[in-house]
Amino acid sequence: MAKTKQDYEKMAENLSFPTKAFINGKFVDAKSGKTMEAVNPATGKVFASFSTCDENDVDEAVKVAQKTFERGVWSKMHPTERKKVLLKFADIIENNLEELAVLETLDSGKPIGEVMSTDIPEAIHAIRWHAEFTDKRYGQISPSGDGAVGLVVKEPVGVVACIMPWNFPIMTTTWKLAPALAEGNSVILKPATQTSLTTLRLAELAAEAGIPEGVIQVLPGSGSIIGKALGLHKGINAISFTGSTEVGCKLLEYSAQSNLKKIALELGGKSPFILCDDVKDLSKAVSAALAASFWNTGQNCTANTRIFVPESRKDECVELMLKGLEKDWRIGEPMNPVNNMGPMITEAHFKNVMSYIEKGINEGCKVAVGGHSLDIGSGIYVAPTLFVDPKLDSEIMKHEIFGPVSCIIGVKSNEEAIKLANETEYGLQATLFTDNLQNAHIFARQLKAGTVSVNKYCEGDITTPFGGLKMSGFGGQDNAEAAHEQYSELKTIFINLN
Ligand code: NAP
Ligand code: MG
Repeated sequence: MAKTKQDYEKMAENLSFPTKAFINGKFVDAKSGKTMEAVNPATGKVFASFSTCDENDVDEAVKVAQKTFERGVWSKMHPTERKKVLLKFADIIENNLEELAVLETLDSGKPIGEVMSTDIPEAIHAIRWHAEFTDKRYGQISPSGDGAVGLVVKEPVGVVACIMPWNFPIMTTTWKLAPALAEGNSVILKPATQTSLTTLRLAELAAEAGIPEGVIQVLPGSGSIIGKALGLHKGINAISFTGSTEVGCKLLEYSAQSNLKKIALELGGKSPFILCDDVKDLSKAVSAALAASFWNTGQNCTANTRIFVPESRKDECVELMLKGLEKDWRIGEPMNPVNNMGPMITEAHFKNVMSYIEKGINEGCKVAVGGHSLDIGSGIYVAPTLFVDPKLDSEIMKHEIFGPVSCIIGVKSNEEAIKLANETEYGLQATLFTDNLQNAHIFARQLKAGTVSVNKYCEGDITTPFGGLKMSGFGGQDNAEAAHEQYSELKTIFINLN
């Protein structure tokens, strides 16, 4: 029988999970002894406290990671053996899916149904995909003629740090952790302070799967302290980061100030949705526009919050969006499996999202729906909000709001839509709806975004690289073979045959 809110709440009460830093295969207190409280965004209640690390813990974690890498217990393990361990890791996560989902919901406020059906299955899929790739990755031989053999080999970078955001904690962690481990690196994970607990639990499950001690460390704590310390540490060879553009820029500075470590940045966005004038049936496009706006309660880097539609069909689109919102989108307590939208991550973030809504209203934008908060649980729930025809240079059109706030704009032509879609400093993703094959190809090429999805809102899948252009990042992509490039280096071995 399907579980109810009460069932999940009961599970949450009886849940046990690690709360200390994970270094050299052991859960340990931060050297300072400091801890922080974990807050459930849905209720505002503290449900645990966890260790918060500082520079001293970073130093130790890096030393352990380096030694482990040099010892070769993981880095020199036969790729097929590494694959087996990673596949076991995926199986163990699957066996613990429900318990992990409850912990994720408790810590992040993400709807339990979403975590169970999307976040964790995708995380498992990612680990399996990268595991399978472990012993199927070839180097190259150069066309250097008969006088030499030029071997182009791929080697792990050594010690990798992954700095994560709070919006898809398990998923983004595995997107980075799996290819980094597959390549043979030692990894230091720095989860977002708001969502550290499932990362600690993942480390415990990884150990159970047989990933040797010292290969994975998890350091919970503040980004401005340990994120910075990782960025400046000379013992770290690469950092993979998902988060804001502002912090991404800081990481580039840290790298320049320390050892030129590789930096891969998956940053923010202000992604467009374009409905071409050739689309006959609006229903599929409208439901995609709703998902693009409100999935993960808008706390989503690829949220499509600038929806361009033909002026002549704007009213019909708005009407259909309101109907679809009512029918398919339910905001409420995330432990209740009927809901697919929840609270904002923190009160500070809630206030920030509300301030954008106020700015939109003060600028005179028409609100088709929402525009206010909701009196649920902790009180940091924002009603899904749709603005109609905001000024193109308004704050709500320019900035990433990272909440359930979207804008619909009427345009005169497809060409105008493409032009406006590209008028942003970001370039993460774009969605295009068209019934015309030629328009699909032509406009997809014209859109300046790392991923253009046609006739569906999505970020591609595990087999396609995911990353941004412009201020949405550079330096490497998640997913697909591309992810492995982030965590490896090319070496040329040139053998003279003369
Ligand atoms: P954030 O503030 O940039 O935080 C991301 C991570 O960086 C956190 O772990 C944070 O630690 C850490 N950090 C903060 N200051 C740091 C510093 N000075 N040096 C090193 N690390 C530091 O972003 P967020 O609020 O968690 O996430 C929202 C952003 O992520 C949005 O802009 C969104 O678009 C982006 N995002 C992008 C993608 C993508 O794939 N492109 C996916 C999801 C989200 P604390 O937890 O202590 O702050
Ligand atoms: Mg939390």
